[in-house]
Amino acid sequence: MDDLRAYLLSGPRRTPPLSAPVPVPAPVPKFFSRRLLLRAGLAGAGLAWLGADTVRASETPPAVAHDPVSAEYALRLLKAGNQRYARNHEVHPDASAGHRSRVASGQHPFALVVGCVDSRVPPELVFDLGLGDLLVVRTAGHVLDAVALASVEFGVKELHVPLVVVLGHSRCGAVTAAVQHVLSGTAAPGRLGVLVEQIAPAVREARTRPGDLVQNTVRCHVDRVRRELAAEDSCRVVGARYDLDTGRVSFTG
Ligand SMILES: [Zn+2]
Repeated sequence: MDDLRAYLLSGPRRTPPLSAPVPVPAPVPKFFSRRLLLRAGLAGAGLAWLGADTVRASETPPAVAHDPVSAEYALRLLKAGNQRYARNHEVHPDASAGHRSRVASGQHPFALVVGCVDSRVPPELVFDLGLGDLLVVRTAGHVLDAVALASVEFGVKELHVPLVVVLGHSRCGAVTAAVQHVLSGTAAPGRLGVLVEQIAPAVREARTRPGDLVQNTVRCHVDRVRRELAAEDSCRVVGARYDLDTGRVSFTG
């Protein structure tokens, strides 16, 4: 473990862009739509032609920074990245071969996201971040078990990640299933019962509130997970909800 820890803690610390100004791509001639470029296998060439490389280079800070990132700064980085994503103005930071090489010798992620396995909510994409920026723990319905808790503890205590985000999302399938099983009193098949068991307290809490039961259960479940992690870990823990329709993340707590 000491070797692993030394390995993980070594290497350059990298601070990603905070508030990359919204890039304004060059106008695309209508006869070169992105779909046509993709179909022709020229998407990469098209992006370079649009000046994306130039925009990214100008918005990326110096590659090596050694100052620790505060929880407040980490939260601002996430908010800025999601703003870019929701507006379709991503800069895709920290994805270059050069950056891959820089972080190959060690990692210093500035935030840890505990999220759902849902294929539509990949944290690196919705926060417009890249290699080495985030630790991510994903389970169905962001349910915590021993391995998930140990993974969070690893990030906080070994890698000194200053911020943990519990990221729920709209129309979560795991939460919806848990609501249905709690309401019907039926058992979930196979191992899915573990998920229902973990989410059921949030369902019962949400039933006391007016409004959409699934959405309220997502909020209650995020908050319960947030409180559980906050009780265990010494860093800041916040809750968040991703909207599948708008791409926006709203933070709570
Ligand atoms: Zn989900």
